[in-house]
Amino acid sequence: MLLIIKTVTELRKYLERKCHSKIGFVPTMGALHDGHLTLVRESKLQTDLTVSSIFINPTQFNDPKDFAKYPKTIEQDIEKLESAGCDVLYLPEVEDLYPGGILDLETFHLGNLENVYEGKFRPGHFQGVCLVMKRLLIAVQPHELFMGQKDYQQCMVVKELIRLENLSVNLHTVATIREASGLAMSSRNLRLTPENREKAAAIYREMKNMATNLKPGNLDQITAPAQQKLKPLGFTIDYFEFADEQTLEPVSAWNGKQKLVILAAVFLQEVRLIDNLLIADSAID
Ligand code: AMP
Repeated sequence: MLLIIKTVTELRKYLERKCHSKIGFVPTMGALHDGHLTLVRESKLQTDLTVSSIFINPTQFNDPKDFAKYPKTIEQDIEKLESAGCDVLYLPEVEDLYPGGILDLETFHLGNLENVYEGKFRPGHFQGVCLVMKRLLIAVQPHELFMGQKDYQQCMVVKELIRLENLSVNLHTVATIREASGLAMSSRNLRLTPENREKAAAIYREMKNMATNLKPGNLDQITAPAQQKLKPLGFTIDYFEFADEQTLEPVSAWNGKQKLVILAAVFLQEVRLIDNLLIADSAID
């Protein structure tokens, strides 16, 4: 039975009664798909009690249209969490997590992580992610936190937040779940027409081509053709390139040794889609 709790006070009261349980936490913004449910299943394997949250966090949206259009499917979400065996759903209103409002809040010193890729293209986004994650982690006090590699840079930011705030939680980064076409599952896929949803498979296909064609030397020769294939299909590219797996510095010349990740953010039909591909087997947690 899934227990739905709407306030942090009630949540603390309930979880304090479960103080001998190992708590796993899966934060989400809803419109749940199999990617989210995989995190729930992973938490169930590794912990005694799984808490998930659904909260569309206003402070992490730099584009008000994106916030307004974010899909909401709460009835189906509840059913999915129930059938995945999630124990508790924390479903707060904005006032519960931001009792003092959403203006003039603290800032986090994230260093260069905030100046590149998602940080650069979505100014303020990671500050919002840190604001909500800090509040959620204080509310839930989980032992284990499960997040998706789909949001690679977000995982790095949360790892840094945990370090900065000295929080005692283990971050687990779970591999990206994809549709049969290769498209990374995302709540935003719901906003694509069926035709564009098929087209969007080109993101993963081109990332895989880039990984296959990778060789030491100038990487623009590998990146440029991939980008050239995407543009005529209707994609607008924020970035689609190789970066250092740890520092997220863009890499345009490769020595054959540096560990790389391909980072991708594109618009299709005004829907912004992100994805990534790690070149070597490695973990960021
Ligand atoms: P969101 O609801 O988009 O904020 O995502 C909530 C969590 O689910 C984040 O940790 C995401 O990285 C993760 N997630 C989203 N899509 C996927 C996916 N396709 N595979 C695995 N995890 C995902």
